[in-house]
Amino acid sequence: MFIRRLCAGLLSTLAIITPVVSADTQVKIIAFNDFHGNLFSAGNVADVPVGGVDVFAAYVDKLRAQNPYNVVVSAGDLIGASPLVSSLFHDEPTIEVMNRLRLDFNAVGNHEFDEGTEELLRMQHGGCHPEDVNSCLGEKVGTPVPFEGAQFGFLAANVLNQQTGDTLFPAYGTKAFGDHEIAFIGLTLEGTPSIVLAEGIRTLQFLDEADTINALIPEIRARGIEAIVVLIHEGGLRPSAAGAYNTCMDDITSSDLVMPIAEIVSQLDDAVDLVITGHSSVAYNCRIPNSVGRLIPVTHAQGAAAVVTDIDVLLDDVSGNIVDITLNNVLVEQNESVVPVEGITRLIHAYSDLAQPLADRVIGVMTAAVTRSNDPTNGQSDAGNMIADAQLAATRSPDTGGAQLALMNSGGVRANMGAELYPGHITYGAIYSMQPFGNSLVTMTYTAAQLKEVLEQQFPECLGRRQRTLLQVSAGFSYQFDESAPACNRIIEMSLNGTRLVEGGQLIDPEKTLRVTVNNFIADGGDGFTTLGVGTDRLAGVLDIDALEQYLVQYSGPDNAYDPNAASLGKPRVVSLP
Ligand SMILES: [Zn+2]
Repeated sequence: MFIRRLCAGLLSTLAIITPVVSADTQVKIIAFNDFHGNLFSAGNVADVPVGGVDVFAAYVDKLRAQNPYNVVVSAGDLIGASPLVSSLFHDEPTIEVMNRLRLDFNAVGNHEFDEGTEELLRMQHGGCHPEDVNSCLGEKVGTPVPFEGAQFGFLAANVLNQQTGDTLFPAYGTKAFGDHEIAFIGLTLEGTPSIVLAEGIRTLQFLDEADTINALIPEIRARGIEAIVVLIHEGGLRPSAAGAYNTCMDDITSSDLVMPIAEIVSQLDDAVDLVITGHSSVAYNCRIPNSVGRLIPVTHAQGAAAVVTDIDVLLDDVSGNIVDITLNNVLVEQNESVVPVEGITRLIHAYSDLAQPLADRVIGVMTAAVTRSNDPTNGQSDAGNMIADAQLAATRSPDTGGAQLALMNSGGVRANMGAELYPGHITYGAIYSMQPFGNSLVTMTYTAAQLKEVLEQQFPECLGRRQRTLLQVSAGFSYQFDESAPACNRIIEMSLNGTRLVEGGQLIDPEKTLRVTVNNFIADGGDGFTTLGVGTDRLAGVLDIDALEQYLVQYSGPDNAYDPNAASLGKPRVVSLP
């Protein structure tokens, strides 16, 4: 009896103790993507001001305070295509801020390659820019000189040095929490070579994402790590409704597998527990079937520090595997309850003071804001059309190219313009934010048949195109398309200054030649426009930002303001037929 009572007592004691001694380990993963050097707020989401990296850092700190076991990760495009305050200084400010925010890992995105491989290695390892004096300015802003480089790890499992076969950066990083570790495999977009300047990545090879991930699994498990997270700079899911940043836009079904990230997830080894994505700049919180049909969480935090993904994972105490995941996309809202992190505020303002004289230079006046939001039917934006007009103006005369039309890639239009400083004044900072890549103009000759082929290549299933990618066109050039027509036969009408080049889908004079201006990025096949590479009589032109400045400087007086309506922005240059 005594023994029985003792046992019962022991059992009840054990029952109380059990959850404590074998407590599974809870880890907080704080994730974001596509920061793009947005040290200051990039604007509103659903009418709420969001971001500013000092505010963002306060959100990160708040999440971090909830659990001493935490890790902060970025899924690429941390730098590149940045506003002036970061890009003027070759994104050194962003790296320094991320060091102070204690970022752990950044999977390399396509934009990390914007200034080439050598410059990206400098971002990791530090040192001064070889030529530009706007580098290593730490003495003026209170950071170490020379530039300290990233104190966090760049990861790129699928980017190899062609000669050595080694990865440019480690394939994965690990972080320990108690007795267990989590592995973070970092991947960039396999398609990076088609969207960055070829010269900067000549020595590199970009491999298939899913194959690369699956091949790493045995090595990671051999190290006794079962908790495996993928940080991948690829997305591509359909945008959700405005403000629906914490939902999945649609149920993911097999018909959605054409979308890059769903297709990749569908091939993944079941050992991968969580996929944190980037690149598409639409926030989502999805579950997508992997190779065995198990639904795994797939997240995306919008970009520009507007949203942060708050993820809690539970590690099994015995195996260390992830046994439960909860996640939330949180809006990085500016409000009174959020106190920006002071040291970061001070640092970004120090850089902003250095950039200010250049940024504030007024170059013109405009009557209304010009936005980069694309008309969903014809893919045109006022900003894209204005840039195309500026590029045509800069290359129209015979000695600058003799151009008759200009075509601009939509992805190269990075910001809206107008209403900064005081209403209507266009500053250098504004045009720089709109065109931050430092691309130069190229004017080439195409036959009408070749030009039609360029336009056909904008639509899916034609010449390797997967997703519709519409170019912005200059005034005077117009076309109509029928998306329901067969691939490569969708251009129904095409005209230049009232002269028909295509009618009823037929070329009127296929050999008629035209001078066309584009930027060097798409001229060399960027954004998948391989058809632009066939142009002849190539003449190099000015920088894209200089063309835009020249164009807008003529509107420098109040009575001569740039009028988007008078410039025929908003009048359809491209028409989608029903
Ligand atoms: Zn990207």
